[in-house]
Amino acid sequence: MVLEAPGRPLVERELPTPEAGPGQVLLRVRACGVCRTDLHVVDGELEGPKLPLVPGHQVVGRSPDGRRLGVPWLGWACGECRYCAAGRENLCDRARFTGHTLDGGYAEWVVADERFCLQVPAAYDDAHAAPLLCAGLIGYRALRLAGDAERLGLYGFGSSAHIVAQVARRQGRRVFAFTRPGDEEARAFARQQGAEWAGGSDERPPEELDAAILFAPAGELVPTALRALAKGGTVVAAGIHMSDVPAFPYELLWNERSVRSVANLTRVDGREFLELAPRVPVRTEIETLPLAQANEALERLRSGRARGSLVLVPDA
Ligand SMILES: [Zn+2]
Ligand SMILES: [Zn+2]
Repeated sequence: MVLEAPGRPLVERELPTPEAGPGQVLLRVRACGVCRTDLHVVDGELEGPKLPLVPGHQVVGRSPDGRRLGVPWLGWACGECRYCAAGRENLCDRARFTGHTLDGGYAEWVVADERFCLQVPAAYDDAHAAPLLCAGLIGYRALRLAGDAERLGLYGFGSSAHIVAQVARRQGRRVFAFTRPGDEEARAFARQQGAEWAGGSDERPPEELDAAILFAPAGELVPTALRALAKGGTVVAAGIHMSDVPAFPYELLWNERSVRSVANLTRVDGREFLELAPRVPVRTEIETLPLAQANEALERLRSGRARGSLVLVPDA
């Protein structure tokens, strides 16, 4: 499924099977999770996609010698810039991203740099493993950046939040979920996944929060979340794109509250999280769709009609 120009639906194309270059591995795609970032790429909200582009960066595939590998968003980093040298390859100046500047997994075949592929834990089948590769990984990185917060708010309860909630509960944290106002189904889902309270993003939680992670791409949630924080608390913006953050009184930031973003992932994050997930154990709530329905899947995500994670399967 190919993006030919941003703002247009993906089109089904018959492409030659890609060839693995030096250091790369050819994978038969078994499943590819749908991420909000895919939506930002397709809608033209992210600069510089390769065109035409095969989106998708939560890829579970099989190599010709039978290994099962995961292909995440960070597809390549230079290894030489000051960020790479400092172990912060997620910030690499020359990073390439799967399904953005490299072809991704909305396809039957994908090639990937083997050094950036991840081992998929055996406890998961292909489709249930796919959302771990970004929703899980980026969520985990965001959770780490939230520090040791005991009372954790999650704004936007979708693919990432349902995984983070399970990890957070396992770590002994208390989870407060914020959904679209009036979305009763999403609230029930959040409580099922371990949230002790679930309400609309326009509501105040029953007590102050020590940290909040924003998964919804709405800038107005930054001051909203700051308002819900106790002194010293942190707001972590987990998305790659967000609408403008409105001006807010300094008072909301005062008392050592902070706002920060989380960008991409490192391979260390990947290994750590994929080792942790089966021990929690994280259970991913998924719905699979045939690859040819990629546009429907994106539309469901855009309009908030997805529970847990949507996963595209080429052989459905
Ligand atoms: Zn670099
Ligand atoms: Zn993603």
